Amino acid sequence: MENCLFCQIVAGETPSARVFEGPRTLAFRDINPQAPTHVLIVTKEHYPDLAAVAKAGGGLLDEVADVARQVAESEGAAESGYRVVFNTGAGAGQTVFHVHAHVLAGRPLHWPPG
Ligand code: AMP
Ligand code: ZN
Repeated sequence: MENCLFCQIVAGETPSARVFEGPRTLAFRDINPQAPTHVLIVTKEHYPDLAAVAKAGGGLLDEVADVARQVAESEGAAESGYRVVFNTGAGAGQTVFHVHAHVLAGRPLHWPPG
């Protein structure tokens, strides 16, 4: 999709610090990290948000969850714990309307977040 930042990152037109690539997913470091580990996982195909990718089915959301698991393991956070967040909708803080999971780890993560 034109003018979508994360489509441009998937296409390699905008640089990113990639940490994992699968057939249908890409993971890269957030440019403004909120924790020592802050990785974004996107689908290569454009879906605007979690609701759209959930509705599409086909196991893609399972793949995103499994990439989160692999990222947590490679970042050394599998045992200490990590948070996976999908901001869904502007009122929940979504600013890039291409579905992405935030994987946060490496510091105490309090709940509810501040
Ligand atoms: P959200 O607010 O949930 O839509 O998350 C969007 C995230 O994308 C924010 O955490 C931003 O810091 C991050 N972000 C914006 N531009 C880039 C970029 N060029 N590379 C990596 N992360 C980015
Ligand atoms: Zn996109």
